Amino acid sequence: MSKNLRYYKNLIDESFIGNILIKKEFTFFLKEKLYLKDSDVYINDKERNLSPGEEDLILDFINKKQNDFPLDYILNSTKFYENEFYVDQRVLIPRPETEILVDYINNYEFIDKARILDIGTGSGCIGISIALSNPQLNVYGSDYSLNALKVADINREELNSDNFYLINADWLSCFRENFFDIIVSNPPYICEEDKHLKNLIHEPREALISSDSGLCDIKKITRQATNILKKNGILVVEHGFNQSIEVRKIFEENNFSDISILKDFQNHPRVTLGVF
Ligand code: GLN
Repeated sequence: MSKNLRYYKNLIDESFIGNILIKKEFTFFLKEKLYLKDSDVYINDKERNLSPGEEDLILDFINKKQNDFPLDYILNSTKFYENEFYVDQRVLIPRPETEILVDYINNYEFIDKARILDIGTGSGCIGISIALSNPQLNVYGSDYSLNALKVADINREELNSDNFYLINADWLSCFRENFFDIIVSNPPYICEEDKHLKNLIHEPREALISSDSGLCDIKKITRQATNILKKNGILVVEHGFNQSIEVRKIFEENNFSDISILKDFQNHPRVTLGVF
């Protein structure tokens, strides 16, 4: 016999003692994935019987949450800069801090038809958000991972982003000299020994970790950007909250000027930018 919603609400309470977030996540899940109404979720839960398909989805939710699987992967959806993006384990779940980088670009005064590149685009969240807000620009999103590009392509299509183009590339090696006005990136920057990694086991490691204390990819990008940026072009890179001094040094060593930083919501230096 099918069980009612109250049964599963109780099961969640018993299975996740001490987890204060889980009720909120479960409620959100019921509305988003099972399309349940507020009245069923909050009031008529005892009367609301579940179909076998619904029960399977709930059991899958419980199973995944017991392994700390992020809700955004369960829902295959995340919110970033006013839009819903499809996500799965092929890409990183976009973080709110990254919106700071997008905001900076969206408030920038571009020359007409400027070319902008989002390297390591992952879900495409940065490039697509910029492309949607600036239809006059040509925005390119590159990634080494073909799997990531498939996800970015889903988002490009879903969000009708006609001025966003995808490219398979290992950082900047394949681009023409003097081609881009702006290069942006949220590259992997976590050091292999960082203790935060134990909370990020479900996201692709190659999108998170970089060797050389987390700086290897930022060094590569900065060095290679000097070949493909136009004169007075700008490089904008997100990094760890404690990496801004090293990143400034890397920018200086590669002859960037007017180097400045953007701070995140917790007032940590989070994004470095410089003019070439
Ligand atoms: N650009 C994507 C993001 O900001 C992916 C970043 C990455 O994979 N390191 O979420």
